[in-house]
Amino acid sequence: MEPRALRDLPSVDALLAEEPVRALAAEHGRDVAVAAARTALDRAREELRAGHAPGDLAARVEAEAATLLEPRLRRVLNATGVVVHTNLGRAPLPEAALERIAEVARGYSNLEYDLGAGVRGSRHDHLAPALRRLTGAEDALVVNNNAGALLLALAALAEGREVIVSRGELIEIGDGFRIPDVLARSGARLVEVGTTNRTRLADYERALGDATAVLLRVHQSNFRMVGFAERPALRELARLAERRGVALVDDLGSGAVAPLGDEPAPRESVEAGAHLVTFSGDKLLGGPQAGIVAGRADLVERLRRHALQRALRPDKLQLAALEGTLAAHRAGAVPVLRMAEEPADAVRARAERLASACAGEVVETVARIGGGALPLAELPSFACALPGELAAPLRLGEPPVVGIVRAERLLLDCRTLTDAEADEAAAAVERARSAR
Ligand SMILES: *Cc1c(COP(=O)(O)O)cnc(C)c1O
Repeated sequence: MEPRALRDLPSVDALLAEEPVRALAAEHGRDVAVAAARTALDRAREELRAGHAPGDLAARVEAEAATLLEPRLRRVLNATGVVVHTNLGRAPLPEAALERIAEVARGYSNLEYDLGAGVRGSRHDHLAPALRRLTGAEDALVVNNNAGALLLALAALAEGREVIVSRGELIEIGDGFRIPDVLARSGARLVEVGTTNRTRLADYERALGDATAVLLRVHQSNFRMVGFAERPALRELARLAERRGVALVDDLGSGAVAPLGDEPAPRESVEAGAHLVTFSGDKLLGGPQAGIVAGRADLVERLRRHALQRALRPDKLQLAALEGTLAAHRAGAVPVLRMAEEPADAVRARAERLASACAGEVVETVARIGGGALPLAELPSFACALPGELAAPLRLGEPPVVGIVRAERLLLDCRTLTDAEADEAAAAVERARSAR
């Protein structure tokens, strides 16, 4: 039906009774057909008011339904040069992690089943040995993410008691996530010591009292202090904590299992005497969203037994992916590390190929690690520069390509694209150009 005036528009029910729309409802469900019919009618009404004929309504319902049925969470080509890009899903998973997910999730698994004894087991037992080897800690626990790891550690060790933190480490990480807020939610009381730029061992020492349960150290993540700045070495804090019988918790943020810049390694932190270290699964570890807590066995056990643990526990997909990621580290096959460490010449060669495939220009850029790790680290990189008008059509294409717009040019940074993705980007540019 092709209405010419507002009064010609059918009701939703009348539209649903038309044959192609009936078939649509039969195939995809009535709710999809109703939603598509409503949207189609709304758009037709707008067009008629603007003096345009909306064309065949049933065809429009089919088009709206097709849009509705498309997945919303989609694969994207990251041409921003930010390796751990939180808005773009942080770490692309290693092949081994994908294989573990497919293997474990397709059917049933021994997630909480002890195959040896034929009785109920714990989901936390599977990864603990590998994490012990990785960190050198006595025991380890995986939770949903690192914010959860910190929350659980503070709730289990310091609820109703005091946690001492340097004013220089009361950071906001991104999207309004602030360390002091997490601390407050854990039920612990925050005691701030030192100043923004300088905190000494004596500051912790003076604040330590009967109510103190934890000394907390937080990695500064996305910012750095330069110049007149000072904080005690972790080893000194560990000695103080030991002497006064309190726990030292070190939130490493990203953590770097493989050495990268000055990013702290969980193993070094454990060796320096931190009683618990926490770090993310999807930053420089390059795996799934997860929070890893490693440290003294009795403290890890307290976290495991805390009620919040049940609310923060990882699911089988996270555990499978994390197990695969740890295997990929042993094999040196972790995408975020490959991207972070790829020689600039190789990135340049990829940018040249992309530029010659889509008539762009190779420009030098600076790529970043992102995800709150190594904010000052500049990774020399190369991009294919294109006219800025291509930014929107490329974002809206399939697959979407997200680059950086600078001085009215669109830069497609090639450090965060694989060779195959660069080819896909070239084809996407071709399509975006021909659609204009
Ligand atoms: C990123 C970060 C977190 C939060 O980690 P998620 O895995 O995103 O929950 C906590 N603490 C620090 C220091 C961080 O850098």
